[in-house]
Amino acid sequence: MPRHGLTPSAWIRRSLARAVAPRTPWVLAAGIITLAGCGVGPVMATAPQDPGDFDLEEVAPGVYAVSPRPGVPAGANAAVIVNADEVIVVDTHMRPSFARALRDQIRTLTALPIRYVINTHWHPDHTQGNQAYVGAFPKGVTLLSHAIARQEIATLGVRRLAQDRERLPREIAAWRSQLDRLEAEAATDAGTRQEAARLQRRIAEAAAFLRELELVELVLPNLTFERSLTLHTSSRRIQLLYFGRGHTRGDAVVYLPTDKVLMIGDLVTGGPPFARDGYPGEWVRTLSRIQRLDVEVIVSGHGRVMRGKQVLADRIRFLEDALQVIRAGLDRGHGVDQIAAAIDLDSYRGTFDPEPPEQPWRGWMRMLVERAIAEREDQAAR
Ligand SMILES: [Zn+2]
Repeated sequence: MPRHGLTPSAWIRRSLARAVAPRTPWVLAAGIITLAGCGVGPVMATAPQDPGDFDLEEVAPGVYAVSPRPGVPAGANAAVIVNADEVIVVDTHMRPSFARALRDQIRTLTALPIRYVINTHWHPDHTQGNQAYVGAFPKGVTLLSHAIARQEIATLGVRRLAQDRERLPREIAAWRSQLDRLEAEAATDAGTRQEAARLQRRIAEAAAFLRELELVELVLPNLTFERSLTLHTSSRRIQLLYFGRGHTRGDAVVYLPTDKVLMIGDLVTGGPPFARDGYPGEWVRTLSRIQRLDVEVIVSGHGRVMRGKQVLADRIRFLEDALQVIRAGLDRGHGVDQIAAAIDLDSYRGTFDPEPPEQPWRGWMRMLVERAIAEREDQAAR
């Protein structure tokens, strides 16, 4: 049973209950909304009966790293900054229901309103919950991101959402026929019964996810920046900084200079770099610039809270080694798979969190190779 104390089926029922929250009047047919002129009154929610979907770890006074509890498919970490007069949330999870769940958990910390929400980059697991914050507070919420991230939510984010809505029914149908086949054998074989139960859970979770995806309306940030933006709140200075391309084209980091805390999005995670939309060569330069900040705690988009700056040096070294392997492989005329297999993951395992059971990292190396090739071709064409 997950640590939030609900059985999987109870959890799914709760997710579904959240997924059918009424549509708010600022939803536009295009599926994108902007914050200007929302004019929606406060939506008060009751505190949850269970301890919540997230672990909140206080990394500095009033600064919390937020990570989904085991079994909670919220997609990514977030962060909460409680100031003297308001609250700031960094990243909004994969689904509005999880953003609402975090909103409820924040109420157990403080009665102060959330006034700012920051998206570190465009990826759905950091932005698809935006709608849960806008309109929920009488004085409104300012939604911030890098200018490129805003552009990418409006293009790549919209496209990804449409693709997921289209892909999931097909996947669910395929799992259902697989389940039908398995159920024919279920009476005799314990292993098959287990596999069938696993498939049943996956189908139920995917169906709940799909139902909620139908209700997602991507909300675009209404305040963007190019290089840096500083929020001068009454109790704390909060800097949004851009150091160049890396995990995506528009990765913002959130820096609290007095607390020496850095929210780094997915520029650094608990695992090796996830480069599907990345720029591996520029990523090294971006991380090198970030190294100059005075930082004691790093809150990352995925994985555990990191202490000190060693992780930046570790990820730079990993990327540099990988890029060298990629260059050498290309010079010898090797294919993408061969080069990806040659990237040394094992020497770096001590610098990563444990790999998830489905062992995704070798597959990620293929993306790293493909993106390094694209970056090289891009540079050659300039
Ligand atoms: Zn990401």
